[in-house]
Amino acid sequence: MKNPIEILEKLNNTHSLSIEEYELLLNNINPELMQLAANYACDYQKQYYQNKVFIRGLVEFSNYCRNNCLYCGIRRDNKNCERYRLRIEEIIKCANEGYDLGFRTVVLQGGEDFAYSDEDMCHIIREIKKAHPDMVITLSIGERDRASYEAYYQAGAGRFLLRHETANPALYAKLHPKELSWEHRMNCLKDLKDIGYQVGAGFMVQSPGQTNYDLAMDLKFVEEFKPDMCGIGPFISHKDTPFAKENSGTLEMTLFLISLMRLIYPQMLIPATTALGTIDAKGREKGIQAGANVLMPNLSPVSVRKKYSLYDNKICTGEEAAECINCLKGRVNSIGYEIITAPGNRAGFEKRVE
Ligand code: SAH
Repeated sequence: MKNPIEILEKLNNTHSLSIEEYELLLNNINPELMQLAANYACDYQKQYYQNKVFIRGLVEFSNYCRNNCLYCGIRRDNKNCERYRLRIEEIIKCANEGYDLGFRTVVLQGGEDFAYSDEDMCHIIREIKKAHPDMVITLSIGERDRASYEAYYQAGAGRFLLRHETANPALYAKLHPKELSWEHRMNCLKDLKDIGYQVGAGFMVQSPGQTNYDLAMDLKFVEEFKPDMCGIGPFISHKDTPFAKENSGTLEMTLFLISLMRLIYPQMLIPATTALGTIDAKGREKGIQAGANVLMPNLSPVSVRKKYSLYDNKICTGEEAAECINCLKGRVNSIGYEIITAPGNRAGFEKRVE
């Protein structure tokens, strides 16, 4: 068996490993290996994105959810969750404010809230596109029918984020209630890609019961499926969920995985997530230095921010969007990078994004 450094070099050269080789890298995580992976990752980051970091404005428009995922703070059975639902005009207003702040892409995210019909979603998308044809709209609203996904795409949505959560069906079954199926979620991702969306997959790092082999399966999935974006963050417990007492994922493993993903698919969009910023005060900066190239600050009205509580101690729930951007600009500049407001397609993406 080769040593971890040789395997890392193989990954850097071929962008492909076996699941066992990925697992071996994860089992041998140490500061030296992490630094080497980050160095290689930053070479690709510079090649495709220079020192530019894309920003996406996140509008968390509803925390009603029909699902009962065991890890998530807005799960259906959490009676302590104070529910809110932004009105259609409020959602459009958030997008408009984002545009005025310089955002050229907005992410509409929520629980699986079917109070918004397909008509409603299409109306929101059309109104935003009508006012700002150069704004790219991303949806992150969970699993819906293919026909619905097609309708949103026709209405003008160009991207869709749907984390696969884990590439191992057995682990998926431990993290989710019986009525949710790994196969269905994976089929949604395939449909979205097939329809023409730029697609974001993603997974939680060190969720309860997850092994390095499971994470290695996630890396293999990224290698094979090639999502345009892959969002990862540490699992963080939420006090009102069945996983309240579980340990959170680590900064180190999340950073290492970011670097490995940059080597697996050098052009991929990789966000430094809010969850990463929550477990470490400089988590997002460290994420960028490990190879990430996207930040997703919050555009939701401050009055609802704390209520979109997926996990405990989430950061950035107090400031106005404009303050958030200034804070982020300072953070990004402090490490020699620069925020740009362009829509930020994946390098090499050629399909229509309007
Ligand atoms: N309802 C949408 C949006 C989900 S929220 C959907 O189904 O896609 C966005 C992501 O937050 C989830 O995909 C999950 O990976 C992450 N998340 C949820 N609970 C979390 C927790 N406790 N710790 C870390 N990440 C969490």
